[in-house]
Amino acid sequence: MSEAVAQPLVFHASRGGGDLAARLARAVEGDVLFDAGSRGRYATDASIYQVEPVGVLVPKSVDDVRAAIAICREQGVPVLARGAGSSQCGQTVGAALVIDCSKHLSRIAGLDREGMTVGVEPGVVLDQLNGFLKPHGLWFPVDVSTSAQATLGGMAGNNSCGSRSIAYGNMVHNVLAIDAILSDGTQARFGPEKEMGGAPARVGELLRGLRAIGEREHDEIGRKVPKVLRRVGGYNIDVCCPQSERPYTADESVNFAHLLVGSEGTLAWSRELTLKLAPLPAHRTLGVVNFPTLYKAMESARHLVALRPSAVELVDRTMIDLARGNPAFRAVIDRALIGEPGAILLVEFIGETRADPLSRLKDLVALMGDLGLPGSVVEMTDAGAQRALWDVRKAGLNIMMSLRGDGKPVSFIEDCAVPLEHLAEYVDRLTQVFARHGTRGTWYAHASVGTLHVRPILDMRRDGATKMRAIAEEASAMVREYKGAFSGEHGDGLVRSEWVGWQFGPRLNRAFEEIKDLFDPAGLMNPGKIVRGTRMDDASLFRFPPGHRTQPVKTALDWTAWDVQNDAATGAVTPPGTGGDPAGGFGKAVEMCNNNGHCRKFDAGTMCPSYRATRDEEHSTRGRANTLRLALSGRFGAEALASDTVHAALDLCVSCKGCRRECPTGVDMAKMKIEALHQRQRAHGLPLRARLIAHLPRWAPWAARVPWLANLRDTLPGAAQVSEAWLGFSARRALPAWRRDTFLGSAGASRDDAPPANADVVLFVDTFTNYFEPENAHAAVSVLRAAGYRVQVARAAVADTEPSRPLCCGRTYLAAGLVDEAKAEARRVVAALLPCVERGAAIVGLEPSCLLSLRDEFLVMGLGEAAQRLSENAFLIEEFLAREHRAGRLALPLTALPQTRALLHAHCHQKAFDAVTATTTVLGLVPGLSVEPVESSCCGMAGSFGYDAAHYDVSVKMAELALLPAVRAAAPDTLIVADGTSCRHQIADLTRGPGGREAMHVVRVLERALERHAKQGPG
Ligand SMILES: Cc1cc2nc3c(=O)[nH]c(=O)nc-3n(C[C@H](O)[C@H](O)[C@H](O)COP(=O)(O)OP(=O)(O)OC[C@H]3O[C@@H](n4cnc5c(N)ncnc54)[C@H](O)[C@@H]3O)c2cc1C
Ligand code: SF4
Ligand code: SF4
Repeated sequence: MSEAVAQPLVFHASRGGGDLAARLARAVEGDVLFDAGSRGRYATDASIYQVEPVGVLVPKSVDDVRAAIAICREQGVPVLARGAGSSQCGQTVGAALVIDCSKHLSRIAGLDREGMTVGVEPGVVLDQLNGFLKPHGLWFPVDVSTSAQATLGGMAGNNSCGSRSIAYGNMVHNVLAIDAILSDGTQARFGPEKEMGGAPARVGELLRGLRAIGEREHDEIGRKVPKVLRRVGGYNIDVCCPQSERPYTADESVNFAHLLVGSEGTLAWSRELTLKLAPLPAHRTLGVVNFPTLYKAMESARHLVALRPSAVELVDRTMIDLARGNPAFRAVIDRALIGEPGAILLVEFIGETRADPLSRLKDLVALMGDLGLPGSVVEMTDAGAQRALWDVRKAGLNIMMSLRGDGKPVSFIEDCAVPLEHLAEYVDRLTQVFARHGTRGTWYAHASVGTLHVRPILDMRRDGATKMRAIAEEASAMVREYKGAFSGEHGDGLVRSEWVGWQFGPRLNRAFEEIKDLFDPAGLMNPGKIVRGTRMDDASLFRFPPGHRTQPVKTALDWTAWDVQNDAATGAVTPPGTGGDPAGGFGKAVEMCNNNGHCRKFDAGTMCPSYRATRDEEHSTRGRANTLRLALSGRFGAEALASDTVHAALDLCVSCKGCRRECPTGVDMAKMKIEALHQRQRAHGLPLRARLIAHLPRWAPWAARVPWLANLRDTLPGAAQVSEAWLGFSARRALPAWRRDTFLGSAGASRDDAPPANADVVLFVDTFTNYFEPENAHAAVSVLRAAGYRVQVARAAVADTEPSRPLCCGRTYLAAGLVDEAKAEARRVVAALLPCVERGAAIVGLEPSCLLSLRDEFLVMGLGEAAQRLSENAFLIEEFLAREHRAGRLALPLTALPQTRALLHAHCHQKAFDAVTATTTVLGLVPGLSVEPVESSCCGMAGSFGYDAAHYDVSVKMAELALLPAVRAAAPDTLIVADGTSCRHQIADLTRGPGGREAMHVVRVLERALERHAKQGPG
């Protein structure tokens, strides 16, 4: 490294922050966010950096952006465009007005099917676009791994590249035009040179300047710009004399949009992009090549690309082992393996006809024989098997990212691109470099284009910065030796702008500065990126800067499992509680969020319903994790977790646990919310409504004695309105109706089948089932008995201080942050049920959020080994029945129902605990019943969330995302199945009126099929 590096360009809010906010608020329709919470949430991206912006604008329209740029220009405030903020290099971190295009600027402007082009606003997400294109048989093929959240504006900004770039190229090869706004307000369409004749005078002058630079630097460009496909550092100064292996345009003409691609928002703001589309591949095959060593795999990559694959992706031994260690993936990865390979390459072929990719798969088999590895290819022609294997590769990375402790895999040389003939040597030498610095990395991804991903594990609070520079120096020397690109996928940002001069030399670096100044003479567009950058190891810009301290917190739940340290070289983790976290592990749990932005996805799965409904960063899992992290660092004052900022960020979290399962690093916001609410209620107390709901298990026995009185709220005219005004219960909702015929008060509950010692199953009847839907518990008893099990109903232990009060999991207390009260309930449950477990009985429950707390929250309440034992033997009824069915022990006499279809909405906690397959299995036992799971996130009711007047609209929005449209579309004779009491209530409430729908618990479906059997005999 030789280039001198500029000092950080930090804008100080004193230069006009307050005034700016006021002016913006007057001028724009969108949200102007200058509060500490918002600025903190936009201070980071998926990099290691953190710089607080001056403020944030979430524009409603292009006019908003135009107005904001004008105001910023007058006030001398930089602007920073942002999409999903999933950049790994710090591109979207800066002291500027951040303009978040992802919420409103997401219009797909026009599709030309014949010409295969489409226009999009910058906030359109790639998956959204490809979902739109699919029915037309088209797709946009720059398939980045972050396709579920990455925006087209951000992808163009970074010149992003997908797994199949060898077949389709990078963004620069697929953007046809960009309609842009310059920092002086000039608007122009940048596109093919021949179409830019009518551009405004300012742009004409700009283009003349660019051409002059291009001509002057022609030879230097030829000398210094790496000739690899994957080169995304610096500006695309070679638009006039392309150096890329793949031409930028079909006819090799100049397209000035390509200069904006990869410019990281430093030249102009893109308001619309015109993209080149490709036909959706009709057929795919996959050959998995098994190699004895990683070296051999890398050595072979250059031979494999001669077969014209669409992807060649590496999975190394570490990742194979990670995948095999996960029961969900073991079978899939095992199908791809031959023996114990050191690495595998996933080689994909696509084609218009079935024969084409198949014949190239045969060529692959033959080639491996020629290369001395006969019999090393697993041929996968089945689309499902291929998809499953691609998923495993992604999941393996996720497991790697979930390493606990302060050492984390850090992205700074993650995407160096080297010519394929040097790949093996590069991997080998870099592995040795890691070892010399006491660390290691897992290798994966794009072998086809010489861009292997690897992140050494570094502790960025301690010696990480020193090691990062040392490793970067050695890696860069190798990249130079091999004539590769230091930035082959992720761009420059804060981590690599200082390397631009190193890569391209001082002369081109100056030319880059000239380009920047031509576009943006005042230096207002995302300053400090690509040119005039800061040092990569400037610790003052780190997310954990020197002096970072986590505030001490006395936590209510046990977070010690996160309070560990790890050994970067071996991966060994210290025992729980030894990590030195003053917040007892809660701080480190929060810091597991690495800001990759996956919680902004809209595809399958649950995470994150409140983001899906609002599209607000604040209401995403990432926004919440950042808020908690900043609170713990003292950013929101002494109240920290109890502060209003934290409370507001958590307000719309429905505790669905979607993130617990789907966040790559396992951020469990539902649990974190309990902790934060605990701190909040200790500092501020609880509002009356929250207290009422929390203590429901205590007053429920009284309400059940006088249900007519308890139900007055929904029977007496005007009472609902009073309850809204007084307590905040939405008058638009009916509350669950109290019943006198509770399950536990019924004869059915008092008749056990066997003395305790002989019971096979102990039925844990939760508060909601007992008081509001006792028929579900009766159905469970009937089903279990019909299957021949001896059933006992769970009751409080004899020594319980309240032996007659029903057991309760404590869910309502947890939802209010009353952890001590929840622990008291949990202790009662453990005391009552552990003896049953010890006698060999299975504990079976009906309500997912109640039963599954025995497997989740009970384990962090300090209840010791007893809770662990209980958790291992607690099942939802469908899990129990599916298990028995699998073991060949289930004999249920079921007969076909009049209905032949069931629409299944799984409760979020069922999804989080992998219990959905059990439900479909059990429903599948009913003869002739086909089951269709709804691809839905949270129903939006989420315990008491949807009953709250303040949450009503968001609650309905969540339901309308997927669940309600599916329910409405279901034929009238379709059974709607939902195991969650609040899900059933939401469905009933929002389909009320003519043609209204009722959902039922799975056990009721089984009960009906049993009854028909009793009436009719086998169907
Ligand atoms: C786990 C993980 C995997 C990844 N995998 C890949 C991968 O496979 N391939 C890949 O290429 N990248 C990958 N990335 C990096 C990143 O996801 C991509 O670069 C992505 O395309 C960025 O999109 P975004 O919407 O998050 O953009 P942002 O990060 O928000 O912005 C990116 C850049 O574009 C600029 N920008 C945004 N909008 C505009 C606009 N309207 N006008 C002008 N400039 C604008 C920003 O200022 C910034 O400089 C990965 C990142 C992570 C965390
Ligand atoms: S919460 Fe999880 S999914 Fe969301 S950004 Fe953080 S690590 Fe990624
Ligand atoms: S628990 Fe659900 S709503 Fe809350 S952050 Fe996680 S995914 Fe989002």
